[in-house]
Amino acid sequence: MKLYNIKQREETVNFLHALIQGLGKNQGLFFPVDLPRFSISEIDNLLGMQFVERSAYILSKFIGSEFSQNCILNCVEKAFNFPVPLNFIKKNVAILELFHGPTLAFKDFGSRLMAQMLLITMETHRYEQEKPMVILTATSGDTGAAVAHAFYGLDNIHVIILYPRNKISILQEKLFCTLGENISTISVEGDFDICQDLVKKSFNDDLLKKMLYLNSANSINISRVLAQVCYYFEALAQIDYERRYHNNLIISVPSGNFGNLTAGLLAQSSGLPIKNFIAATNINDTVPRFLTSGLWNPLPTISTFSNAMDVSCPSNWSRIEELFRRENRSIFELQFGSVNDELIKKTVQEVANLGYICDPHTAVAYRLLDDQLCSDEFGICLGTAHPAKFKELVECFLEDKVSLLVPNALKKHMILPVLSHKISGSFAELRDLIYDITVKSDI
Ligand SMILES: *Cc1c(COP(=O)(O)O)cnc(C)c1O
Repeated sequence: MKLYNIKQREETVNFLHALIQGLGKNQGLFFPVDLPRFSISEIDNLLGMQFVERSAYILSKFIGSEFSQNCILNCVEKAFNFPVPLNFIKKNVAILELFHGPTLAFKDFGSRLMAQMLLITMETHRYEQEKPMVILTATSGDTGAAVAHAFYGLDNIHVIILYPRNKISILQEKLFCTLGENISTISVEGDFDICQDLVKKSFNDDLLKKMLYLNSANSINISRVLAQVCYYFEALAQIDYERRYHNNLIISVPSGNFGNLTAGLLAQSSGLPIKNFIAATNINDTVPRFLTSGLWNPLPTISTFSNAMDVSCPSNWSRIEELFRRENRSIFELQFGSVNDELIKKTVQEVANLGYICDPHTAVAYRLLDDQLCSDEFGICLGTAHPAKFKELVECFLEDKVSLLVPNALKKHMILPVLSHKISGSFAELRDLIYDITVKSDI
């Protein structure tokens, strides 16, 4: 698989390189030179397969010969070891539940696949091992947990996670800041965009680059986006044969950094019959405003109930624009919308009246899907997080009439102390800390 840097097109790399390095020069994201296309009969065959086998097949079509099919199948078997049910909550609306992995959010798919692929890469000595491998990631809440759990205990890989102090839920923080061992966490005074900016600066820093093999496990890593392509196929595999080819399926994607929507658009471009997507955001609505006015004008990030979507400079947007440009499609074809906190609360209540409890992120996507769906269309809303992950909030919305069960795997983290380092938003401070954690320490 060949990829090029969207910002500096002359930089091309293979998949392995993009997997290990994450970002290209000048902080550009990598994009595939060639994209696979499946015919209708191939799609038909694919949709008849089991999730794991199908996913391995799709990934090997994207990745090509750098990893054998068997090797990809092994990675997928280990990474995607939990169910992905499509749950019909109305006649024409279903929720694709992507939150049955260990950290109860869809990010488990991408992080776990990426960890397995990196592990294989390291085991086969396919990268220069003279420097420590460091996974440096910014999180608005859920990436941190997914990455920490996917890499926890893996030999020779340090994981450092930055997150905005007091802007994630207590359960979210407990989930990834209590692990220790090869997982270090840093709470930053500032918002997610500041954390993301610090990560980007680290990748551009000559001193750090000299000392370390820096890798970001953010959704800028192409392996994570590719992992997510797979569950769009699974969604279609679970709907009736009759319904599949009417070209009337709308998928609503709760979006922050827009990795999930990128993956959906890649699935569509490979031939999966999806009529359109809804780019659903909270009031951090840079993209909806852009799709309305054509002007890209990020505003300061605001904290909301759907905090994993509190992003105002979404990195993956450049990939989406690139895909539309390559396919000669207008980006303004996309459906979109934004939902404020009051409406998130009302929507969680409304969906509960249909007999389904959803989390605040999923509620954003449901609201816009329900508002925009035409009578001849059928809608799928991505369920990106388990409602128990936002237990206090969701129970409060529902006036304590329901009590959400926190799965046992999460409960044990609640009683452990938070081990995070604290820094201001300064890069110099971060650089010193990274040095202390990785070069001075000796795990
Ligand atoms: C990360 C996250 C999102 C946003 O996904 P992107 O791929 O960054 O757009 C939505 N919902 C939840 C629960 C998340 O954790």
